[in-house]
Amino acid sequence: MSAVSHSSASAPPWLSAPDDANALAPLVWPQNAERDADGVLQLGGIPVTTLRESFGTPLWIIDEDEVRARARRVLDAFRAAAGRYGAQARVYYAGKAFLSAEIVRWVTDEGLAVDVCTGGELTLALAAGADPARLGFHGNNKSVAELEAAVAAGVGSIVIDSLVEIERLAAIMQRRGGSQSVLLRVNSGVHAETHDFLATAHEDQKFGFTLADATTAAARVRDVPGLTLVGLHCHIGSQIFGTAGFRESAGRLIELHAALLEGGDLPVLNLGGGFGIAYTSVDQPTEIEDLAEGIADAVAHECEVRGIPIPNLAFEPGRSIVGRAGVTLYEVGTTKQVMLEGDATRTYVSVDGGMSDNARPSLYGAQYSARIASRVSSAPAALSRVVGKHCESGDIVVDAEYLPADVAPGDLLAVPATGAYCFSLANNYNFVPRPPVVALRGGQARVIVRGETVDDLLARDAGLHAPPMEGNE
Ligand SMILES: *Cc1c(COP(=O)(O)O)cnc(C)c1O
Repeated sequence: MSAVSHSSASAPPWLSAPDDANALAPLVWPQNAERDADGVLQLGGIPVTTLRESFGTPLWIIDEDEVRARARRVLDAFRAAAGRYGAQARVYYAGKAFLSAEIVRWVTDEGLAVDVCTGGELTLALAAGADPARLGFHGNNKSVAELEAAVAAGVGSIVIDSLVEIERLAAIMQRRGGSQSVLLRVNSGVHAETHDFLATAHEDQKFGFTLADATTAAARVRDVPGLTLVGLHCHIGSQIFGTAGFRESAGRLIELHAALLEGGDLPVLNLGGGFGIAYTSVDQPTEIEDLAEGIADAVAHECEVRGIPIPNLAFEPGRSIVGRAGVTLYEVGTTKQVMLEGDATRTYVSVDGGMSDNARPSLYGAQYSARIASRVSSAPAALSRVVGKHCESGDIVVDAEYLPADVAPGDLLAVPATGAYCFSLANNYNFVPRPPVVALRGGQARVIVRGETVDDLLARDAGLHAPPMEGNE
């Protein structure tokens, strides 16, 4: 068969037909992903066919070595960049990207602190053995109970999001005594989304204080006995490429930071996370070292202009730590040719999971890529759409990808870069149990979160378990 492929008018403009629809794009897959002599995809030295036999499909696979290496690299990059200006850097892993006990242990082992944003995430991080003093606690609607639990646990810093929260914390500190470090989340008006950023005076979103309101909030925090204001916090968005948005935001924040210094110490500036990764072969994320240097340079410059010392910096990467370490393995169940405009066709490839194990495409149109994982094929590349098994036409896993035209039921299909926000956003739509998570290290695979069974789902249905109601007699 000829391997010549043709582009389709129905493909999105960014997607071109590949020379080889079996090739693994370099930035998208875990570093040690490769095909063995039989063409079977190997992850962490283990053929996916073996993983399927042991654990079934769908399967979330996470490469522990890759997570650890990314954690080290990100920490080193920010430490080096801040260190050039005599400042320190702390890196919090943004737990919401993928939180499990083992992942907390890997990243804390590598020297990262951890960010949580609900009582549930806090409980998991503490249960996994995270040092409470190295936890950050976020969220725009932390309840009194959640704040109380965080203070009681000795959480290192709480990022305050509203005036209501200041008063909640004031009451808690009054009851409990002691002291609590806090930051103020500021909405800098800079919102970044991948290639562009938007800078406005008033950004219409729920998080943080506006720059104008933050001064009053800071004064109030400084008045509350037991609260220590240690700095400002800002997170401008996710999947950001380039440093422009961070630099713009840092400039605005440091102006406020400098003004607040007149009322007392402010040793920390937390610039959040959002560092982009490659989901498809066309994504060219900025290297983390370049990002770190660009951001540190901007902060140092703004501080110099205002004649203030450079604060210690904090960052909160999530997807850039775990995203590329994850691969989801599916089995193809059905395929279907659909005629499009002109003589174009699209191959619909249905897999045994879908929007329940990866909500990102249906939630915000996220793009992914895919490869047949159980073999290589010399069939021509055909424009394909990978869809799930849910009763929803928006149940898309990979919107557009060129796959070998002979993709067929029984093939294993792998979707890379699923380590961030797939497990975390998973759901049980259509009573589909969530898959297990298998971690790879040193040629070994082990379950770090077990898969659900239909019985797990039925166990919550009171109508199946409660004794029947007695009639009124
Ligand atoms: C989501 C979030 C992060 C992490 O974002 P990534 O895109 O995963 O790096 C960090 N900080 C805050 C406050 C967030 O909401």
